[in-house]
Amino acid sequence: MKKIFASVLVSLAFGLLLSAALWAQSPQNEGSPRQENFFAELMRIQYLMNSGLPYPPLCTPDEDIVEEESLPERTEVITYTVQHGDTVWSIARKFGLDVNTLRWANPAIERNPDRLSTKQVLVIPPVRGVYYTVKKGDTVRRIAKKFGVSPQAIESFPGNHLELPFDLEPGQKLMVPGGRLHLYRPPRPTPVPGYKFMWPAIGPITQGYWSGHRAIDIGLPYGSPVYASRAGRVVYLGWEKSGYGYLLILQHPDGMRTYYAHLSSYWVHKGDRVRQGQLIGSSGSTGNSSGPHLHFEIRKGHYVHLNPLDYLPPRK
Ligand SMILES: [Zn+2]
Repeated sequence: MKKIFASVLVSLAFGLLLSAALWAQSPQNEGSPRQENFFAELMRIQYLMNSGLPYPPLCTPDEDIVEEESLPERTEVITYTVQHGDTVWSIARKFGLDVNTLRWANPAIERNPDRLSTKQVLVIPPVRGVYYTVKKGDTVRRIAKKFGVSPQAIESFPGNHLELPFDLEPGQKLMVPGGRLHLYRPPRPTPVPGYKFMWPAIGPITQGYWSGHRAIDIGLPYGSPVYASRAGRVVYLGWEKSGYGYLLILQHPDGMRTYYAHLSSYWVHKGDRVRQGQLIGSSGSTGNSSGPHLHFEIRKGHYVHLNPLDYLPPRK
């Protein structure tokens, strides 16, 4: 009963806040610093509600508003519950972060961030970088070195609440602002004399060419580089709804085409001419895909599927 009362109270308060925010949005108030503050506050409360943390006071005295403007950006980690239609990109953008920051902070999506489920709860670090769990024997210096930042970047980050002599406890969480996790990069493929096509990426063949799958699947860690198998022109680039996910098609001079599917991003534009071996995209798991891999096809024209293994150099 107490719980119901509390949630009714919160909904009421939230409604009040929302109408106040709408009022603040009306044209005559446009661009006022107070309005921006109001929205920031609204967002903060929304996040706090999602995170299950105690709610901040709903009324902010005027003098506090002035002070808040000089405060730094968010310094604490929050959580976010995935909503229908969210992607890891839209969430990253919403919080001013990048996809890698979200991946590194959320082991459940690190390998395959294209698979978000509704109601999934994500950890949202306050800034770009690595959200790290201290291990036995770690020091600030060692962690800084590991992620390519200065020790001061970790020590001075307000959300870390570190004080001299910066002793760390195993299990303690630290934000490493600007830190980067070393990512495995598969070996880079190269053209082989006597072959028109080269491997677009090097990895295990997770599915071969057969009547139900006129392509080969190359297993790759998420975000691995994908290279043009042959020189050509980008004739298709975009979401393909039949299951390819993000698809890129190259047209080659003799009427041959290569297809690169389930990509997570592209490095070229439609109409671009690309060299053989040029970086064209990054592997992903978009569309009908069970895990990060490159679905690679070679076709003659639009409709004649060819077995890529008949055209690619032998694997070493
Ligand atoms: Zn496939």
